[in-house]
Amino acid sequence: MTDFTLARDADGVAVITWDVPKRSMNVMSMQGFEELDALIDEALADEAVKGIVITSGKKDFAGGMDLGVIAGMKQSGGDEPARAVFEGVMRMHGVLRKIERAGMDPKTNKGGKPIAAALPGTALGIGLEIPLACHRIFAADNPKAKIGLPEIMVGIFPGAGGTTRLVRKLGAMGASPLLLEGKMNDPKKAKALGVIDEVVEDPLAAAKAWVLQAKDADLVKPWDAKGYKMPGGAPYHPAGFMTFVGASAMVHGKTQGVYPAAKALLSAVYEGALVPFDAALRIEARWFTKVLMDPSSTAMIRSLFLNKEALEKGANRPEAPDQTVRKVGVIGAGMMGAGIAYVSANAGIDVVLIDAAQDAADRGKAHCEGLLDKGISRRKVTTEKKEEVLSRITATTDYAALSGCDLIVEAVFEDIGVKAEVTRNVLAHVGPDCIFATNTSTLPITELAKASDAPDRFIGIHFFSPVDKMMLVEIIKGERTGDVAVAKALDFTRQIRKTPIVVNDARFFYANRCIIPYINEGIRMVAEGVEPALIENAARLVGMPLGPLQLVDETSIDLGVKIAKATKAAMGDAYPDEAVDEVLFWMADQGRMGRKSKSGFYAYDEKGQRSGLWDGLSERYTVSDEQPDLVEVQQRLLFAQVLEAVRAFEDGVLTDIREGDVAAILGWGFAPWSGGPFSWLDMIGAGFAAERCDALAAAHGDRFACPALLREMAQSGAAFYDRYGDGRAARAA
Ligand code: NAD
Repeated sequence: MTDFTLARDADGVAVITWDVPKRSMNVMSMQGFEELDALIDEALADEAVKGIVITSGKKDFAGGMDLGVIAGMKQSGGDEPARAVFEGVMRMHGVLRKIERAGMDPKTNKGGKPIAAALPGTALGIGLEIPLACHRIFAADNPKAKIGLPEIMVGIFPGAGGTTRLVRKLGAMGASPLLLEGKMNDPKKAKALGVIDEVVEDPLAAAKAWVLQAKDADLVKPWDAKGYKMPGGAPYHPAGFMTFVGASAMVHGKTQGVYPAAKALLSAVYEGALVPFDAALRIEARWFTKVLMDPSSTAMIRSLFLNKEALEKGANRPEAPDQTVRKVGVIGAGMMGAGIAYVSANAGIDVVLIDAAQDAADRGKAHCEGLLDKGISRRKVTTEKKEEVLSRITATTDYAALSGCDLIVEAVFEDIGVKAEVTRNVLAHVGPDCIFATNTSTLPITELAKASDAPDRFIGIHFFSPVDKMMLVEIIKGERTGDVAVAKALDFTRQIRKTPIVVNDARFFYANRCIIPYINEGIRMVAEGVEPALIENAARLVGMPLGPLQLVDETSIDLGVKIAKATKAAMGDAYPDEAVDEVLFWMADQGRMGRKSKSGFYAYDEKGQRSGLWDGLSERYTVSDEQPDLVEVQQRLLFAQVLEAVRAFEDGVLTDIREGDVAAILGWGFAPWSGGPFSWLDMIGAGFAAERCDALAAAHGDRFACPALLREMAQSGAAFYDRYGDGRAARAA
């Protein structure tokens, strides 16, 4: 099997075409690199070849490196994994540098063969690093194409010269959104930024024409020419000095120092800027190796790339015929229903959006229109697309319009009686094959399914708010939910391009089950007299996007009160959170409902912007003179979440730790650098985790008691991913 092929045309242009067999998108493997290297050698050595064009046989150029291969490089090194990684990376640099120098005389910079890249569509990661090594980059005028280096988003950074070349091309300031945020652009924007050179109708023809007329000077990269100066200045240049000092502060502010890749990227850029180009590539390779050797990057790649993709491709889909949704009925056009209608119509599905009153249904549709208008103002949506999407949504009160729906998603008030009535109404209007899903966040699916005479076709599809932004969908099986319903929910999730997990029915399912103890632990500490700023900062410094007090302000205090009351009613004497409720209920009594009321644990200005922690809190909950250690606070906040994740796995609510990790990051932002709760436990080791549980339980109570599974793993020296990484459940179904 070959990923690259070479063809010479009558004009003497060698066209190297990248076309990985049996894949819709090109991805780079080590074998691919060897092939590319050999073809470049062949074309450079062939006297009949005047110029070379590297292009793709697919509609896109490439999606990036096969991240599985990067992980594999480490394993191939035996006792010296870092050496194997470094040598592998240097090998890639060798090939790309060969393209860049193209046989030129090192002294005169003459005699090389022009090499151009012709990009028909998306070019990401290594798919842009190769073009950056070429002498000119032509891209098709394809607004859907994405051009960029998104590596930072999975915990690494561009390590095949992309970092060094882009900074030398654009300067540190110009390159920083592309490298540090992984910002991707369409071809026109990429050209305006100076990332690529030309946007044309036919990039292959344009590239061929260019190589045939290119002069020696066109081939020499600025950094290989005499007197090169980095745009914006290198670190010791007065302007560069400001940039680099500012960049360090900005990166640290954004990442709180917990993402090794961001720091390493910055080091590679800073140190690389002080030395000649080839030395800079070696420096980049050393920092890249360091990042690949960091357990955080392994865990991030595993959760945010490999496992996320596996779940999206249906890793846990039961055997069942295709369940593609054609017409969905969304009942309840409130905040959630309107969002669900929007993502469905956007995916090409016909939507019937029902509410009790026509104006409520219309408001739901207007919400979709608002989202589309926002997309238009950001140039992400065309007016035609807007019309097309809106034309798919029928807003009505008439249940008869549901005829022909193959899926229903119910998102009415969180009330078991209201939901039961809606379920019966719906079922009177749809066919026997229709699957009924509820978006409930707290009510048991098995209980709700009692309103249906076909509980095997009843399921939970739990979206997160705001629906258009949140990528996670939690699919919940009731006791009698059948395989077809699960397959339907998964196929629907795939259509709307979200990431699904499939869990069993239990209080709060998975995500809310873990996030509530996090919020509660923060509130509990307030009652204990821990300085609120310490609680919030400890959370941020360990990589949580929001501190627990900010989070409860965002989700609203009254929702917290409602959930607490319902949980207490259900649990009776076993209810463990009285200390939390004392604070929460008092806040509600003060009318401080969180951000929506512009008052909560934080104070807010007129515009609703947070202006700092509310100082009235300390009048009731006196801050103790003696404050706990930062790490102690962090461990309480993290263990509150991960122990719940372990219990969910132990109980069989969660049946796959990959889902547990991916959902934690996408659903509630669990410290993404860790790769998720199970990855984090593997990082610290079950033995240490069990020890900490014992200490935390002794100091703070039984909620930190070590789960039996974790205790057993500590005793046997086991790790979650060694034992369950292939998707195996802790409990037999
Ligand atoms: P909402 O109050 O914004 O919307 C509910 C809508 O349902 C309203 O428009 C209401 O008019 C309509 N409705 C009520 N009874 C109806 C009936 N009998 N027939 C037709 N329409 C009826 O509520 P929401 O926040 O969108 O939540 C809806 C559901 O989604 C709830 O079950 C909630 O628990 C769940 N949920 C909410 C969130 C969230 O963050 N808000 C997240 C996940 C799940």
